[in-house]
Amino acid sequence: MGHLVSSTPLLQAARANGYCIGAFNVHTLEMLQAVVEAAEELEAPLILQTTVGTVKHLGPDYIVAAAQTAAKRAGIPIALHLDHCTDFNLVVRCIREGYTSVMIDASMHPFDENVRQTIEVVKVAKAAGVNIEAELGKVGGVEDDISVADEDAKLADPEECVKFVELTGVPTLAPAIGTAHGIYKGEPKIAFDRLEQIYKLVDVPLVLHGGSGIPEEQVKRCVSLGMGKMNVATELRIAFSDAIKAVFNNNPDENDPRKYMVPAKEAVKALAKEKMIMTGCVGKAKDFR
Ligand SMILES: [Zn+2]
Repeated sequence: MGHLVSSTPLLQAARANGYCIGAFNVHTLEMLQAVVEAAEELEAPLILQTTVGTVKHLGPDYIVAAAQTAAKRAGIPIALHLDHCTDFNLVVRCIREGYTSVMIDASMHPFDENVRQTIEVVKVAKAAGVNIEAELGKVGGVEDDISVADEDAKLADPEECVKFVELTGVPTLAPAIGTAHGIYKGEPKIAFDRLEQIYKLVDVPLVLHGGSGIPEEQVKRCVSLGMGKMNVATELRIAFSDAIKAVFNNNPDENDPRKYMVPAKEAVKALAKEKMIMTGCVGKAKDFR
């Protein structure tokens, strides 16, 4: 495709055609390469994403350069997304560096303040041709610096979703529907009735947070109800780290990073493929040529 693309048209196509695009949180070059290879081999559109913590860890310029290189080499559309950002200045910085999608997460504030902050980002991002994602309700669990206790997690209100999209013009919305960040203790309790109401009332693509560990049948049901993007973070980190641990368990003296990064990369790639097959985006890259 040559260059990073905005995720707005990718996600609109996903919603219109009843599939969902995998959005994978990456923390190292090998993780990025792993999900890109997975998407290329399955001809799936791809959203690479980084949390604020990873932006601070690696630097947005390094991340953009790596993602741009991937986009230049790959024959699939790739977007680069900033996940869960609460800081307007960092959103702007990432857009300037070359991110093609940003999430402003003001879901911890009252509705009106969430609207106000989202409008601010929508103005800047739309002018730059960059996708915007915002959250309504509160997704539980821990994602980097953002931690929401189970009792504070809150489902999105369907009427508020309608109002929010109208007031902000946000092109993609993440409504909290009972999923959580991290690993589930038992099965997630997804409020499908709530999701269905939102799906019927709101026509922008919806985003499923907390995609790690949701059983396949539940993922498919979410996709059939308008979830056009599924975020996967924790499961990828575990696959990556477990593969490295296995190398050191067998050979505690290993000191060649390639010897443990290769299996780590393969583990991430296999898992990313599994998720792409689950969300139905295999082969869809062709539609964007
Ligand atoms: Zn999230």
